[in-house]
Amino acid sequence: MLVDYHTHHYRCGHATGDLIDYARAAARRGLSEIGLSDHSPIYHLGPDPHARPGTAMAQGEFPAYVEEMRRVRDELRGDVTVRLGVESDYVLGWDDHYRALWQDAGLDYVIGSVHWLGTWSIFNRDLPRGRTRQDVYEEYLRTTQAAARSGAYDVIGHLDCLKTRGHIPDLGVTPLLEETVAVLREADVTIELNTSGWRKGLGEPFPREAWLNVCFEQGVPVTLGSDSHRPQDVGADFDEAVRLLRRVGYREFAAFEGRVRTMRPLD
Ligand SMILES: [Zn+2]
Ligand SMILES: [Zn+2]
Repeated sequence: MLVDYHTHHYRCGHATGDLIDYARAAARRGLSEIGLSDHSPIYHLGPDPHARPGTAMAQGEFPAYVEEMRRVRDELRGDVTVRLGVESDYVLGWDDHYRALWQDAGLDYVIGSVHWLGTWSIFNRDLPRGRTRQDVYEEYLRTTQAAARSGAYDVIGHLDCLKTRGHIPDLGVTPLLEETVAVLREADVTIELNTSGWRKGLGEPFPREAWLNVCFEQGVPVTLGSDSHRPQDVGADFDEAVRLLRRVGYREFAAFEGRVRTMRPLD
């Protein structure tokens, strides 16, 4: 019985469906748990409370999002366990703003994702002015380390997401990658096997197998997420994901309740 801890819904502006549609999709798929984890509001791009309508929910929307997650959890009790989460950005220097957003929201887990290096989005097709791919790679992994060390997150999202637009000079195992995974271990955070890489045509999930091997060898726990932006993608490619995790050596995955991790067998 698997969990899908990475899902979105209409509030972020680039996904479709209501929260309950995702939860029902999980029940239909036979998952034991669905984690709702839409993109948190964005703070670091200036005073506009809805700086990027197509990227994340407005700042004022967060309480309604949490309230609706609670309703969905109650409504589907008995069909599927609904966990309350959020995918929050990790932006250097903005820890406290993001942390303050959710710390009293009664969430089950928080995914910390590096989507931004300052004001540059890793999904931008162009590199930041005057920066090389190597510069961006180093800053991305060092920012990931800072996210883990911040203690604000339970799960670090899509570890090698920088590859989406090809802004990564080395997808192999570099000393900086090994150092980064050691920091994840030391900080006791969980990574996710995020299956959306397959749906994005990358031919592999996030992170790729070579990176997963390093995580497994260093003892970093893993959970599963589809990163679905449509209800029909809940649990997508999980058979393939489980085969991959088992090939790497994982025999259990992480589940969360009230920000406490428990390990379950990966059957
Ligand atoms: Zn998204
Ligand atoms: Zn993300």
